[in-house]
Amino acid sequence: MEKVAGGQQPHQPVNETFDASEHVLLPGLVNTHHHFYQTLTRAYSPALNKELFPWLTTLYDVWANLNDSQMALASELAMVELLMSGCTTVADHHYVFSGALVNAIDCQVETAQRLGVRAALTRGSMSVGRDDGGLPPQTVVQDEQTIVDDSQRLIDRYHQRAEGAMTTIALAPCSPFSVSRELMRESARLAEKNDVRLHTHLAETEDETAYCQKLFGMRPLDYLEDSGWLTDRTWLAHGIHFNDDEIQRLGRAGTGIAHCPSSNMVLGSGLCRTLELEAAGSPVGLAVDGSASSDHSNLASEMRQALLLGRLRYSPSQVTHEAVIRWATQGSARCLGRTDIGGLEPGQQADLALFKLDEPRFSGAENPLAALLLCGAQRADRVMVAGRWRVTGGQPCDVDLDALMARHDEAARQLRRAI
Ligand SMILES: [Zn+2]
Repeated sequence: MEKVAGGQQPHQPVNETFDASEHVLLPGLVNTHHHFYQTLTRAYSPALNKELFPWLTTLYDVWANLNDSQMALASELAMVELLMSGCTTVADHHYVFSGALVNAIDCQVETAQRLGVRAALTRGSMSVGRDDGGLPPQTVVQDEQTIVDDSQRLIDRYHQRAEGAMTTIALAPCSPFSVSRELMRESARLAEKNDVRLHTHLAETEDETAYCQKLFGMRPLDYLEDSGWLTDRTWLAHGIHFNDDEIQRLGRAGTGIAHCPSSNMVLGSGLCRTLELEAAGSPVGLAVDGSASSDHSNLASEMRQALLLGRLRYSPSQVTHEAVIRWATQGSARCLGRTDIGGLEPGQQADLALFKLDEPRFSGAENPLAALLLCGAQRADRVMVAGRWRVTGGQPCDVDLDALMARHDEAARQLRRAI
């Protein structure tokens, strides 16, 4: 990371100073893909030890009963967990809209604003249910006009365009196996018209490749391109099963990849070709993915997973701690289309993560940045978002954590009882 302004005085008058001489300072971490609601179905017995498709079909029936109050608690818990791990910008991909849960994104916006966290929220969608050959049950799919109208409403109401935006909205059909080709194309048109970003899951498993071949007669990336999505407006979750030619096409287009190592390991999906994608020109960011697959929302811990998993494919000299920190900061920011976060240079937003190396796991460490990943940092001591402390002493500000966990746990029980 480039060092600037060392030893200089701020140009503006300051009303508070903080001695960070005992801290390791990182730009606030940026998470690029999550499903907050899945914190309610972590380590759920019927879904354990499965690959993606059977895992999904088991859980869809539980998720179909989600309601607004459960959604609010799940979002708050996930955002607090991310914040405590040093994450200052959270992205979420919410695509389950049932009769009891129509205002999921509004509820996430309200929660993010109350917590003071920067949020890239995506209006997900599913329009092809089991009756039409898709994976999700009919109760959680919506008709396409409803999806398009609600997407436009959310953009108009919440999407901020200025530098330092706290809330942005992107459009995010769930996956090739849960929306129609028409909705993919319409989403691309709507995103272009409104100048917002596009997000979806792609190339997560070999099953998905086979599904696309069978249904569309083409591979997932060809389908993406055919739908008008192969652009620098798009960032994709996972991006594992691309061949050499596809990686070059993604790089030329500048399409971003949200790398989700823990989720990919839990579901046995494979290893993302991060270094080839970066070399080809794609922004590569880091993500914890949904908490029902990776079962955690800790981005500091995810950096360690990315380092370890990366070294199974590449050499240790290629997947360094600096490279992984770059993915979790600048790379993630680029995936979200942001140039004002992810760095510590003058002109960047005041989003900071400060870690202390005062736990037994760090004792004896020489290189503080490497220690965060190799010794396994779990929790930031302090986190600042947009110039406001949101975590101090390892605890989230203005949040009763015990009460939140008690209410969240009860909501999870309630949801499990509903099926
Ligand atoms: Zn996901």
